[in-house]
Amino acid sequence: MTRHRSHRPNWRSFTAGGRKTNARMATPPRPHKPAFVYRWGAEKERRNGQAGPPAQTGVRFPLGGGKGTPEWAGRVVEAETAVTDGTVGGAMARPELRHPKNADGDWFVDTRCIDCGTCRDVAPHLFGAVAGRSVVRRQPDPAAATETVDAWRAAQACPTTSIGTLSRQRRPGRLYPFEIEPESGVFDCGYCSEDSFGASAWFVQRPSANLLVDSPRFTAALAGPMAGMGGIDHILLTHRDDVADAARYAERFGARVWIHESDRRAAPFATDVLSGTAETEIVPGLVAVPVPGHTRGSVVYLLEDRFLFTGDSLAWSHERHDLTAFRGACWYSWPAQADSLERLAAGGHRFAWVLPGHGARVQADPEELHDRLECLVDRMRDAA
Ligand code: SF4
Repeated sequence: MTRHRSHRPNWRSFTAGGRKTNARMATPPRPHKPAFVYRWGAEKERRNGQAGPPAQTGVRFPLGGGKGTPEWAGRVVEAETAVTDGTVGGAMARPELRHPKNADGDWFVDTRCIDCGTCRDVAPHLFGAVAGRSVVRRQPDPAAATETVDAWRAAQACPTTSIGTLSRQRRPGRLYPFEIEPESGVFDCGYCSEDSFGASAWFVQRPSANLLVDSPRFTAALAGPMAGMGGIDHILLTHRDDVADAARYAERFGARVWIHESDRRAAPFATDVLSGTAETEIVPGLVAVPVPGHTRGSVVYLLEDRFLFTGDSLAWSHERHDLTAFRGACWYSWPAQADSLERLAAGGHRFAWVLPGHGARVQADPEELHDRLECLVDRMRDAA
């Protein structure tokens, strides 16, 4: 699809001084700033269907080992190989590239940051945006133990390993997979992949079938704990941009891989292909709902009428304190995306969590989220 910026007046509407027509979000507070809207879009499209980058860790796992394979019974939990001294997979934030706008103190973001926004979504109280980069907005308060862990969690999620400490603090143990709510069995994977521009991925542990929604980068630091929790049965791809290392996870765990036919080119290894806009039950309690708009083959996955995995079709905005969709990052059709979200709202489903690829995650009362979704659709139509 050919793009002409002159036909897209709000191409940079989340980030720069251009017109801001996004879903009637033209007024303060300052707009959300997922830089993938304007910097990564073309690159993501260019990469679509191409092989991902080489593995980060160099660790190779044997074939098979998933449920139903001969290796299953003897599968062992791999030792976590990521080091614990403030590095991730051997990479470190680089003090010599420390961004000058970081708040004074030990923690810093270096200028290799690609502005995916993940750290600002994981720890919005600590990280902020400055001219196309993230910086430490406020140093973690040592008296508040959770703040340091929050900073570490952001560091471990960062796809470019740009977050670190001048003093080379030691990471406080394993941080991911991180259960988003006690006893939920739903985990933030962290370890975002640069190939998906830092999109979040989610692991779900259930007795019937474990799930991976989109893909983090492949690392033993995740594959080991996942194996210990029973491996992965289904990989659910929300759309073509967030495939990342899904093939490696599928190979490692013998998992089935789901994607919509319209985005299938990005995951030719998929075993199960969704089509049309009808809902599909994948396993009891798990429904795939096609939502064409962000891409033609975008899908959201609703688990137990509680957890909605949305890819880049729907997210929370900390700045606006509301649900949002990314007008400037809509690669297929904004009106179609509004139609899709309207269908989702009208479908009788409810959800208490919105767990996106890009943008912030949120937990709220299901009726409130439903009302907010309906209001978002109205704003999207006004902005069409
Ligand atoms: S997670 Fe890393 S790459 Fe993404 S905005 Fe933060 S510092 Fe930049």
